Amino acid sequence: MNTLPQALQQLIAAFGRLPGIGRKTATRLAFHILNESAQDSEELAKAILRVKNDIKLCSRCLNFSEQDICPICSDSRRNQRLICVVEDSQTILLIEKTNEFKGLYHVLGGVISPLDGIGPEELHIKELLNRLEGVEEVILALSPSTEGEATSIYLSRLIKPQGIKITRLARGIPLGSSLEFVDELTLSKALQSRSEM
Ligand code: ZN
Repeated sequence: MNTLPQALQQLIAAFGRLPGIGRKTATRLAFHILNESAQDSEELAKAILRVKNDIKLCSRCLNFSEQDICPICSDSRRNQRLICVVEDSQTILLIEKTNEFKGLYHVLGGVISPLDGIGPEELHIKELLNRLEGVEEVILALSPSTEGEATSIYLSRLIKPQGIKITRLARGIPLGSSLEFVDELTLSKALQSRSEM
């Protein structure tokens, strides 16, 4: 029989649903919250709600942002003729860390994956096509999976006829879902030695 108060059980269950958190860690976190000051817990709860309430998608690049146009898109020092297409916002974070890329981004929101019911319409492809005026190069920084490859080829076929150069990172760079396995130096080199499709 579970003798823990129901509120505590609920918190443990909620932590347990987070990625990489097992039952043991979830329990430890819940007890930590129980023992900390009411003020600390309130700050944590507020921070969680703020992320959910205040963050939307940038209307240009679809990156998470608190403004309608994100700080990257509104930075006039960045090269507006260069767009790097990524699967998610976390990849932007990683590429920004390399200090290698000074263009703009476009977040697709995933890759084409028929088995998961994700077709081109489910991704932000239309939004990408709508912002290509004046763009000289599109870099495809998608994961090296079969789905990522297929998405790169699909995008290349759509964009290339418009006279825009399409490049991609050196093969084998684990982006997207396997993002955490790539280091800044490797990514930096992959950006420098990108190849034309
Ligand atoms: Zn933006």
